[in-house]
Amino acid sequence: MPLGEFDLIERFFHRASPRRDVLLGVGDDAALLAVPPGQALVAATDTLVEGRHFLGGAPPESVGHQVLAVNLSDLAAMGAEPAWALLSLSLPDADADWLQRFADGLFAVAGQHGVALVGGDTVRGPRVVTITALGFVPPALALRRGGARPGDLLYVSGWPGEAAAGLAALLSGAAADGGDPLVHRYFFAEPRIALGRALRGRATAAMDVSDGLLGDLGKLCAASGAGARLDLDRLPVSDELLRRHSRVECEQFVLCGGDDYELLFTLPPAGAQLLEAELAQSTALRRIGVIEADAGVRCMRGGVPVNVSGGGYDHFA
Ligand code: ADP
Ligand code: MG
Repeated sequence: MPLGEFDLIERFFHRASPRRDVLLGVGDDAALLAVPPGQALVAATDTLVEGRHFLGGAPPESVGHQVLAVNLSDLAAMGAEPAWALLSLSLPDADADWLQRFADGLFAVAGQHGVALVGGDTVRGPRVVTITALGFVPPALALRRGGARPGDLLYVSGWPGEAAAGLAALLSGAAADGGDPLVHRYFFAEPRIALGRALRGRATAAMDVSDGLLGDLGKLCAASGAGARLDLDRLPVSDELLRRHSRVECEQFVLCGGDDYELLFTLPPAGAQLLEAELAQSTALRRIGVIEADAGVRCMRGGVPVNVSGGGYDHFA
C-alpha cells in the first residue's frame, strides 16, 4: 500500500507538542500559537534543495537536522528563543525509510531546543525541504546586523571552516560518511542558540556565518555603515583542520567556507574583556578584529595589510 499524503503527515510529522503555547498544531488549517506578552515574534525561513544544498546521497537524518538547524541559527543570530517550526516538504516519492530518518534528524534538533513542529505542507516534486522557524525576543534586546560602531571589538564563535572542509572531504572522496569529524560538522552543525541569548542587549551587532566569514563580515559592516580590520593571525583554526590541511588551506576554509553556523558579533570596547571571559565559559570564541569607520574589510597579517580573495556564496552571481 503506497503511503498517502494524510498518512505520511500522521505517521512522520504529527507528534504531541512539547509546548503549552501551541494552542493548535498539526491537523487543522493553520496553527494557533500564543506569543508571550511583551515579546516580538521572530521569523526565519530557509530552503534546502537536493543537489544544491545537500548531496543526493546525504544521510536523511542530516537533511532533517540541517534544515531545522540553519533556521535556528538565524533565530540565534537575532538573540531569539526558538519556539515553533513549520515544514514544507517536496518529495519525489513517499519513501518511508527516507522519511523516518529525515524525521528522526529533524525531531532530534527540535527536542534539543524545545521546538514544536506545528504545521507544514507536503507536495510531490523534486526533493526540496523548507523550514519556517518562529521564536521570540523582547524587541529592545534583539540582535541586528546594523549596530556595530567604530572601536567595537569583533568576535566569532567556535570553529568556522570545519564544515566546509568536511564538505570538501566528501566531494573529493577522501571521507565516506559521518564517521569523519569534519564531515560530521558539515552534516550536523549546531546552532548557537545559547550564545545568541547571552548576547541579548550586549552585542552591538550579530549575524550567523552561513556563506563564509569574510563575505558575511562584509554584510555586517555594510549594514552598520562601517568597516572592519580583520586580524588573520587571530583566526580560530581547529586542531582537526590543521592536522589535515596546510596553513593556507586552513585560512581559506575559515574565511570562505560556509555551513558552520557560527555567530559573528561585536562588543563595545568598555567591559568587553569581562564579558568575553564570561561568554567563553560556555562557548569557544575568538576576538578577530575591530570595527573601523572606513567602509570595507581590511585583512592584516603580522601588522601588514594583505589582499585576500574569495567572497561569500551567491546563488545568482
Ligand atoms: P491544507 O490543505 O488545509 O493546506 P494540508 O492537507 O496541506 O492542509 O495539511 C493538513 C495539516 O497537516 C495542516 O495542519 C498542515 O499544517 C499539516 N502538515 C502538512 N504537511 C506537513 C508536514 N510536512 N509537516 C508537518 N505538518 C504538516
Ligand atoms: Mg497544505
